[in-house]
Amino acid sequence: MTIAAQIEALIQRLDGVSICDDCITDRLNLSVRSQANVVTRGLGGANDYAREKRPCGLCSSVKISTSHRR
Ligand SMILES: [Zn+2]
Repeated sequence: MTIAAQIEALIQRLDGVSICDDCITDRLNLSVRSQANVVTRGLGGANDYAREKRPCGLCSSVKISTSHRR
């Protein structure tokens, strides 16, 4: 499974809850945050995903987070 597919699966599992790049990096044990960032930036332009500054559902800090639209 590619990193992009793992990230998409993680965001979809959260079912509308936003997650920041740091938490994605943490959850998937990625070596660097930029790996997550490249993927989430791409998802932000997709119809099924929202990418905006709001509280992350996992760490609660307000930063750019990605969520899946239900
Ligand atoms: Zn977070």
